[in-house]
Amino acid sequence: MAEQEASGLQVLLSTLQSSCDKDVILNILSVLTDLLSLGTGRRIHYVVSKGGSEALLQALATAAQTELPDHGTLLPLLRLLARVGQRDRKFGLKVQKAEATDIILSLTRRHLGHHLHLTHCLWVLRVCASNVTTGTMLGINGAMELLFKVITPYSKRHVRTVRAAIGALAALLKSKSNSRRAVNRGYLGELLRLYQDWHRNDVSNNYIYIRRGLLLCLKYITNIQLGRETFLGSRGMEILFTSVQDCLSCKNLDPIITTATHILRKCYPKEHLPVVTVRSSYSFPLPGNASAEPPCEGSEGKWLKGDSESEGEEEDEKDWDNEDVESKEEDCDLETDVNKLRSRPVLDRPEQELEKYEALCAELFQNFQELEFESEEKKSLEDRTESLPSAPSHFIPSATSVKHPNCRWRNQSVTEMGPDPGEQDFKVPLQSWRKKEECIWDKNDENRDIAEKAQDKEFCEEKDPARSHVFALCSLLKDSAWYKKVFYPHCEASIDPSPEGRLESSDLVRNLLEKHRGDIPFHSPCFYAARAQCVKSIPGYRELAFPDFWGHQPPPYSKPVLERKHGLQRDKVLDDVRRLIQPGDVIGRTVFDLDDPSSLSSPAAPGCLTFFSKFESGNLRKAIQVREFEYDLIMNADVNSSQHHQWFYFEVCDMKPAVPYRFNIINCEKLNSQFNYGMQLVMYSVREALQGRPRWTRAGQEICYYKNHYRCRSAAAGGGGVRRRFYYTLTFSIKFPHKDDVCYLAYHYPYTYSTMMSHLDILEQNRNPRKVYWRQQTLCQTLGGNPCPLLTITAMPESKNRDDLEQFCSRPYVFLTARVHPGESNASWVMKGTLEFLVSSDPIAELLRKCFIFKIVPMLNPDGVINGNLRCSLSGDDLNRQWLAPSSQLHPTIYHAKGLLYYLSSIGRAPLVFCDYHGHSQKKNVFLYGCSIKETLWQAGCMVDTAVVTEDVGYRTLPKILDKVAPAFVMNSCSFLVEKSRASTARVVVWKEMGVLRSYTMESTYCSCSHGLYRGLQLGTQELEEMGSKFCLGLLILHLKSLPCSKELMAQAALLLDLEEEITDRAQRRCSNSSLESDDEPPCAEEIDYDTASSSDGEEEFLELDQEIQECLSCVEGETEDEGVTTGQTCSSRALRGLYISSQPAPNSTALPLGSPALGLCRGFESSPV
Ligand SMILES: [Zn+2]
Repeated sequence: MAEQEASGLQVLLSTLQSSCDKDVILNILSVLTDLLSLGTGRRIHYVVSKGGSEALLQALATAAQTELPDHGTLLPLLRLLARVGQRDRKFGLKVQKAEATDIILSLTRRHLGHHLHLTHCLWVLRVCASNVTTGTMLGINGAMELLFKVITPYSKRHVRTVRAAIGALAALLKSKSNSRRAVNRGYLGELLRLYQDWHRNDVSNNYIYIRRGLLLCLKYITNIQLGRETFLGSRGMEILFTSVQDCLSCKNLDPIITTATHILRKCYPKEHLPVVTVRSSYSFPLPGNASAEPPCEGSEGKWLKGDSESEGEEEDEKDWDNEDVESKEEDCDLETDVNKLRSRPVLDRPEQELEKYEALCAELFQNFQELEFESEEKKSLEDRTESLPSAPSHFIPSATSVKHPNCRWRNQSVTEMGPDPGEQDFKVPLQSWRKKEECIWDKNDENRDIAEKAQDKEFCEEKDPARSHVFALCSLLKDSAWYKKVFYPHCEASIDPSPEGRLESSDLVRNLLEKHRGDIPFHSPCFYAARAQCVKSIPGYRELAFPDFWGHQPPPYSKPVLERKHGLQRDKVLDDVRRLIQPGDVIGRTVFDLDDPSSLSSPAAPGCLTFFSKFESGNLRKAIQVREFEYDLIMNADVNSSQHHQWFYFEVCDMKPAVPYRFNIINCEKLNSQFNYGMQLVMYSVREALQGRPRWTRAGQEICYYKNHYRCRSAAAGGGGVRRRFYYTLTFSIKFPHKDDVCYLAYHYPYTYSTMMSHLDILEQNRNPRKVYWRQQTLCQTLGGNPCPLLTITAMPESKNRDDLEQFCSRPYVFLTARVHPGESNASWVMKGTLEFLVSSDPIAELLRKCFIFKIVPMLNPDGVINGNLRCSLSGDDLNRQWLAPSSQLHPTIYHAKGLLYYLSSIGRAPLVFCDYHGHSQKKNVFLYGCSIKETLWQAGCMVDTAVVTEDVGYRTLPKILDKVAPAFVMNSCSFLVEKSRASTARVVVWKEMGVLRSYTMESTYCSCSHGLYRGLQLGTQELEEMGSKFCLGLLILHLKSLPCSKELMAQAALLLDLEEEITDRAQRRCSNSSLESDDEPPCAEEIDYDTASSSDGEEEFLELDQEIQECLSCVEGETEDEGVTTGQTCSSRALRGLYISSQPAPNSTALPLGSPALGLCRGFESSPV
């Protein structure tokens, strides 16, 4: 606004404050009214900034001083106050300063008999009360009592006044002390009665705003514990629940339903999870004196017996308010200490300890005299492979060639390039390959032994003689658990007396396997079973999950994200509330309980699903049948812990086909989930698999995720205090495809430890040993006694002449790790893609192998994966928070991975790239987290002296490349900030302590992409694997861009990458019209939480009051129910309305001149009789 006008406004305001001339005041009010009648809150904010509130309050004080206030000025003044006040954040303070609370209260009292005037007073009262302190003061001075004189049961008279009174009451009840006072005076019951009355009588839904206003009062009053208790005691749950049922069919009533549901959720009595203890069913004795989480968390039982009464209200209310502290904390979490950000190599162990890692880098000391041995070995393996029917024999294609239509060109380029001329040259006498391999960790022969075992084994003997009849194929499929007997892995000492039964079963398996052999690339059921036998688990698994055993082949299509139905969550929540209202309908039968072994062996009740999850990565703890087709499910906590539930994986059978079953996983912990944004879980049907469709598919309808009424008291992280823990429900319904089927449901595509181990077996057997240097060693044994494999992959030297051997040894390292968090199975699928690409015959892979030596730990947390954990290892620790000071005893995989990195760094061979693969449960897309000092300081708002802080921006190159070459990858989602809370993650420690510039965490969504080729599609394993192979491509391009390369390499790369660029260009063009947007999710369709401020606060509320004022003005004419206008005045009122309409300023005008027709409006009010 121009300076002149500004000063004009100030003149007006100061005149308003000082003048006693009625006409002058009227004119000024009229101008202000016109000025603000247009458009947005921006003008009001402007008036506020020029002292508008103070001037209006002063004018009010002056007007109120007179014995008989002049309503001609009072009414427009009150309207202006209401409109300006509600947008002035400091209005409450200004009211107090002007000592106006008493004025407003007494004005209200004085006008109890005149509804139009009263309504105006109530608007201002409401605005004053929106400041908690002012509201409390008003409450102390009797405002609520006054309002209850105005709020009446259902009546068509004075509805505007009643509405304004309810609005003011709701504002007052935002103050907790007012709420307490209201409860003590019995107003809560009164509000419920009023609500019921309006609900009952407002049959045509004319007064929705009054009904909703009453609900808002109830909503605020139940923010305090006393309010909730009184609400329950007054049968509030029943009353609201019943009334909501009447509203469900009418979409206009959504505001009522939403508010009522909010109150119902909040007041639902809190309970503990129906488990003996929240502590994991599995515990693991830790070496030494180390203890996992403090035991106080586990001793839940005492509290369960019901001393919840002892909770102080204060603590309670604090909790409601500080609900999402966790998510807010992130903002102030940035590391701003430059010294802490600076790379400073430190060693967390004696230097001589590093020597032992030399054995894990044999490639650096190899003289390749044994090259021939390598090919001999290959030959003998091939021989063995051929002689065994069940052995896998996979053509290793270029890993990407089968995956994306865009990549088909690669096959061409293979033929174009022709056979490698160097291939013939590997005839070198063999020497001691094995000798050098021996090191303290190396279980080198283990792999081969297991592979042999797999081939020789009759791993499918029947153990239960009584049921051996099931192995006739036709009857077999009727028994849903048949395969368990068939594929029983632990069968060393079979005591089966019936040799025929055994033969039959193994024949059957052979038949089945032969039929399916080769169907699934890089998977072998035999290898899987052999590997699974060697796994050491806490529960001592004796069964295999069929999908892991049989294998998964991605479906030929991608599924779009699920569209969310309107009011879905509300319906589910009301269904939950119904359990409380109609307890007789609830079955409440425990059908599976890990803590009660007898429940596992007893036969299932008829008509009831049978659950099972005692297999690798399974983690169902308890299943309770709630209604005929509805089950509550509880997931087991991480071993030695009492938390971390989000991942799930279990088996279901005895289902009826085509019936929607509702499942509620009631102990989820994350604040929000992609399940609210279109993500589906995954399902695998055994029958489908046997019919040739062995696949996990996205499944589940009516999916939503919301906070439920279960609570847990737990030790605060680090603080020693007690923090309330909240649980969330993931609900979904599933229609099973077949009768007599066995189905598996999981959070995401499972990928077990045995899957990984057998995958490595297959890769090793199928690689081309003349080209691919492949070594699998054991990095260390885990706490649980499982080997953690370390892979070394690079190209075999071109020849054994010195130059080539030197080139071989001097290749830079790339260090990749994955699956430190067991629940992030997507990370394993990406790693699978990386590994398959790296050993493939794809020319890009060949080139890449010549560029780098890859050190890969494909699973940093085998124990966690095996035992169905979400986040931790057996020690109950998040291993990705241990990198600063890993314990060799408690965190061996981290300790030795870090040791190996130290070693590489100590010999000047720190990796060019370090990347740890993860999954992200709350975001879409695939993206990288990296580390940058400057970006962190900038983001934190610190002054950066660029002369002092210099930084290589090379950390941005790889993500930029990936953005171009990988369809699922989005640069915009990447972040390079160093957070304090991430100080002990792999990414930050490797960056800081090893000085690796390109140290990343790669996060893959569980859900879908917001940009590019896969926009709106849920990612499958195919897309995840593709990401893994594209990551490799990105590395090659990074090499070409960042490192000096030979001419030959450049030429080869140019040939390959030109083509690649063309492809990516095309892909880019195809999706270029999709605009870039923030990767933050839009607010949930429905509030998943019921403790946070309602969306009705803020701007929406302003508009509501504006509208209320506007409606009141424009309807004054037809106001037959208000005594303000009698029939005698109709004529003049009609004239008044005409004036009002004509006074609406033209869209572009800012202010009308003094004496504009709007003045008539103000005078018009004056003319209405008192
Ligand atoms: Zn993670």
